[in-house]
Amino acid sequence: MILITGGAGFIGGNFVHHWFERAAAQGLPAEPVVVFDKLTYAGNPATIATYLRSGQATLVHSDIADRDAVRQALATHRPRLIVHFAAESHVDRSIHGPGEFVHTNMVGTFSLLEEARAYWGGLDGEAKSAFRFLHVSTDEVYGSLSDTDAAFSETTPYAPNSPYSASKAGSDHLVRAYHHTYGFPTLTTNCSNNYGPYHFPEKLIPLMILNALDGKPLPVYGDGLNIRDWLFVRDHCEAICQVIEKGTCGETYNVGGINEIRNIDVVTTICRKLDVLRPRADGTKYESLITYVTDRPGHDRRYAIDPTKIQREIGWQPAETFESGIDKTVRWYLENTEWIDTVRSGAYRDWIAKNYSGR
Ligand code: NAD
Repeated sequence: MILITGGAGFIGGNFVHHWFERAAAQGLPAEPVVVFDKLTYAGNPATIATYLRSGQATLVHSDIADRDAVRQALATHRPRLIVHFAAESHVDRSIHGPGEFVHTNMVGTFSLLEEARAYWGGLDGEAKSAFRFLHVSTDEVYGSLSDTDAAFSETTPYAPNSPYSASKAGSDHLVRAYHHTYGFPTLTTNCSNNYGPYHFPEKLIPLMILNALDGKPLPVYGDGLNIRDWLFVRDHCEAICQVIEKGTCGETYNVGGINEIRNIDVVTTICRKLDVLRPRADGTKYESLITYVTDRPGHDRRYAIDPTKIQREIGWQPAETFESGIDKTVRWYLENTEWIDTVRSGAYRDWIAKNYSGR
């Protein structure tokens, strides 16, 4: 049994799919998962509905900052592994309301660590030495790079610039300290920007795809020249699986696909893909919808990850290029209108109310 916090969100939800598909591909029995998720606006049970229905996944609807709920989930399900995705994750939201970010990312991670440490302390022998806590984090903790700086490595000093990245940096430090102080068996991954299926439509790539299909403006911040290092979400999920299997406790691993791309180029790539897959009825190109908007305050210029350590020590390599990953992503959004409708209509809120009220 493994426990996944934030498993109804974008990356956590993809991880649930990856976990079961990976086991099937290896001919191994599927180890069941418990998803522990508060189901905020970003958590959508429809993402993992297949596994909830089959009983391979169980959903605990609760807050990681609620220590009683965490304790009870650990005592009931007895996981051998915790993969910690749960977070407030949207930089723009953190600018307007940083309190939730401190609550979940810092206080929540602290609560989870405390309860997980107590649970681990009560394990014996092989169960205790095999237990792992993998903390999923971001490259944004390292701050911003100029166009000529070297990419972030695991030894780059932390310099977070947004309330989001500051709260994630705080959680990373707590995880590090729990290993150093208590010997708690932690692993940390710091990954670059993810994209792929089941991404909530407020983030850049799904926002552009869905706005384009609706004929709405495609808002690009500032001059559009900010650079992000993009990784297909399933490559991130596979990196996490390999770090769980081969990583050294107490270590951190940077995860990235060496795909530095300017925001404007991300948007034009999506537009050109849509021009082919879903041409506009009036014959105009999707690029005509691009609109430059006032930049985000404190917008980091460039992120870039040096993945040498995970490649050398773990042997992980991404399977997708940006071209192949964006092709899969655009096709997924074209084909999965039902999921998009549940997100946009808030229909999954009714589903939560019906299925998970009071738990
Ligand atoms: P997301 O916002 O899509 O999902 C977050 C999930 O956590 C949701 O299901 C939400 O309901 C849940 N959650 C939020 N607060 C909670 C709480 N207090 N208790 C329990 N559950 C709670 O986020 P994501 O993009 O899937 O990111 C997952 C993790 O990966 C985060 O820790 C994020 O910092 C990290 N990360 C994200 C990216 C990226 O590009 N999206 C890149 C690197 C690292």
